[in-house]
Amino acid sequence: MSTALFIVDVQNDFTEGGALAVAGGDAVASAITAYLARNADRYALVIASRDWHDAEGSNGGHFAGVDSDAAPDYVDTWPVHCVAGTPGADYDPGLDTTAVTHHVKKGQGVPAYSLFEGVTDDGSTVADLLTAHGVVDVDVTGIATDHCVRASALDALAHGRHVRILTDLVAGVAPQTSEAALAELAHAGADLEESK
Ligand SMILES: [Zn+2]
Repeated sequence: MSTALFIVDVQNDFTEGGALAVAGGDAVASAITAYLARNADRYALVIASRDWHDAEGSNGGHFAGVDSDAAPDYVDTWPVHCVAGTPGADYDPGLDTTAVTHHVKKGQGVPAYSLFEGVTDDGSTVADLLTAHGVVDVDVTGIATDHCVRASALDALAHGRHVRILTDLVAGVAPQTSEAALAELAHAGADLEESK
């Protein structure tokens, strides 16, 4: 019985100064680094995801202002962010990725909120990795609580894993939707705990 840690989308465009900055993103990056320094050996897998969009086109309607002049609604359409190979798509420099065992990229040409939609550079899916390593428990951290953290945690539950959200290691776009997401996750069976 082993445990995996998810680090969802701790990227420059989602932290302070980024195209789609989430308040508290830098602090979460540093806090995950500190947590890993103490706890990395508890995890059979440490999987980090990156949103990794195409520079051309709207990525399936994900980017506002490409297919039409409509402004982003911050629900289904967003400012341009995390374009593959740009600084905005890099991990936030506050996140030390030394302990990361697998990097996955998602969102090439399509909207992709869940880390389960990502694949490693050699084509492995997260579901395959969890099965191969006998992972029963998944701890979830990262950005944003109300979008990609939510979707990743719901998918982990749907894949039959026990899920724990480390509530001091996540940051959300908006307080109200972040609260709602955590309530939804708890209702779906996730545990909400601080990492301390
Ligand atoms: Zn995106």
